[in-house]
Order: sequence, then C-alpha cells, then structure tokens
Amino acid sequence: MIVAIDGPAASGKGTLGKRLAAHYGFAHLDTGLLYRAVARALLDAGKSLEDENEAAIAARKLDLDALDEEKLRGAEMGSAASKVAAFPMVRAALVQLQRAFATKPEGAVIDGRDIGTIICPDADVKMFVTASAEERANRRFRELSSKGDIITYDEVLADIRARDERDTNRAVAPLRPAADARLLDTTEMDIDTAFRAAIAIVDAVGR
Ligand code: C5P
Repeated sequence: MIVAIDGPAASGKGTLGKRLAAHYGFAHLDTGLLYRAVARALLDAGKSLEDENEAAIAARKLDLDALDEEKLRGAEMGSAASKVAAFPMVRAALVQLQRAFATKPEGAVIDGRDIGTIICPDADVKMFVTASAEERANRRFRELSSKGDIITYDEVLADIRARDERDTNRAVAPLRPAADARLLDTTEMDIDTAFRAAIAIVDAVGR
C-alpha cells in the first residue's frame, strides 16, 4: 500500500507520516529531506543555489541511506531547499528514487509536495495536510526555539509565507492537492487528534 501525503511547510505532514508508518509497519520517506540535502551539498561545496546544473549533479549523487537529518532540519535549509526544488532538472533527477521507495513490499508512506500529483499518482491513499500559516509558524517557531535556534516568530512566519509562495507558484510540480486527495486541516487539531483523523482516512480505503 502507498500512502501519499502532501502539504505546505509545518502542516504536520512529516510527523503524521512518521506516525502512520510506525502504526501500519510501513517504510517512511520524508521527501523534503532530499531537496534539503541537494541544497546542503551545494552550500558545502561553495556552489550557488542558483546553479541548476550543479544542483542536478548533486541530486543524482544523493544516497538515501546517508541523509543526516539533524544537519538538514534548520530553518535556513528549508528555504534553500525550496530554491533548488524549483529546478526541473533537480526534480527529474529525484523521481526514480522516490518511485522505487514507493514499491517497498511492506508498504510506504511518502510525504512532500507533489507525491499524490506527480510521484505516485496511483497511490492507494492521498492526503493533503494543511493548517493556517500563523498556526504553522507557531509550531515551527516552538520546534526551532526548543532546539536552540535563535529566530523570532515573525521571521518564521515570513519564511513560511515565502516558501508557500515559491512552492505554490513554481512552474514544475507546484504544491497543490491531487484531485482525489482527502483534505486534512490541522489548524484546530493537536497532533494526536490529527493522527486519529489520518488513520481514519487510511482505514477508509479498506485495509
Ligand atoms: O517538507 P520540507 O519543509 O522539508 O521541504 C523543504 C522544501 O523542499 C519545500 O519548501 C519544497 O520547496 C521542497 N519540496 C518539494 N517537493 C517535495 C518535498 C519538498 O518541492 N516533494
């Protein structure tokens, strides 16, 4: 079974993806990490985030098993990732790897921006997880502050808005719900409530 979860930054999709995968015994892939890793590779090599060719080379070299989540999680990496994610060559370089992950025999939960629309259009379950920009900024601000990042709520909100804008308006694989996705708005939900709602969506397709 393939569960495709899309949604904007800090909507809760990553946490839900992880918990759903644990609940059903499926593998989980957070595809945001791939774009973050491409941006990280460019920055580490002193290359520009505007260089599509270099970004595509970095994307082709990505090793799923070598992703260092800790190094990729910071706020500035999210913003850098959304720049390289707009390059068609980068997206093309990452398609196969994501589709291969989706064929895991035990089942797969994959979250990102274009999973239900482009990567796994035939996924058994599609969810679009969202929340208001203010609530998402609140969550991300609390998460980053607890890790010791020095950042204000207003900076986090501005980053989220800028990323929403870039991800929604880019020419390739823009952020949008698949026509057959179930919408899950978590603005008024805590994570346990959202998790129960997500399980209900998966179970409804007849596990
Ligand atoms: O989900 P996360 O915040 O880690 O994603 C970082 C950035 O990577 C997003 O803002 C988006 O631009 C890009 N991304 C994407 N397609 C995906 C996953 C992430 O374009 N499937």
